[in-house]
Order: sequence, then structure tokens, then C-alpha cells
Amino acid sequence: MEPELGGMLRQKGVDVDEITCIGCKHCAHVAHNTFYIESEHGRARVFQQDGDPEELIQEAIDTCPVDCIHWVDYTKLNTLEEERKYQVIPIAGSLVDSGAARIASHRNKQNADKKKI
Ligand code: SF4
Repeated sequence: MEPELGGMLRQKGVDVDEITCIGCKHCAHVAHNTFYIESEHGRARVFQQDGDPEELIQEAIDTCPVDCIHWVDYTKLNTLEEERKYQVIPIAGSLVDSGAARIASHRNKQNADKKKI
């Protein structure tokens, strides 16, 4: 089973929890063919799953100061990407309550779904 990812046998993808990310840019320096810093909130995001060797991505994961980069099953990548459209990124400098941010994100998604109906 060949996943829709780079590499012959990679069965997992990499994802950044942008709510937790502090935008230090470290991962984008370590694995610059995988991560970039999105311009709206200054958080890291994956732009290419097969951009760097797995070892380099693992180094970015291991050295992220807030542990917000994770391997995920490649079948979940589309769902995570869809959910990201509705996430609420806290304003820099404010206290982060990831639970509250995820609830707000979920509510935004529900409101968007209601508008479609
Ligand atoms: Fe965000 Fe971690 Fe990358 Fe820093 S290393 S930009 S905290 S994902």
C-alpha cells in the first residue's frame, strides 16, 4: 500500500499543532523542505510531506521546544487539514489555553457547517 506521501514506504505524515507552536522557526531551519512559517500567525506548517528524509523530520520533532510536531497516520492528514481551517490561533503574548482554543475551533466549524445548510 503506497501512501500518497513521498518515500517508497512511509506510512505516516507529519503535522504541526499550530495552536501550541510558538513560531520559533527552528523546524523550518532543520527541515526546510518540509516546514515553513505561515505568514498570518507566524506558526509552522507542513507544506511538503516528502521534502526531507525521515531522520531530518525526526530531528525537528525531537528538538521542537514545545513538542508540537507529531507523526500521524497518513490517512488522517486530510482530516487534520480540514480542521485547521477552523482553528483559532491565540494572539501572541496571551495565555494559551489549548482546550479553550480547540473548543472555539470546533464551534467555528459548527457555525460554518450551519451556514452551508
Ligand atoms: Fe513551532 Fe516547534 Fe517549529 Fe518552533 S520548532 S516553529 S515551536 S513547530
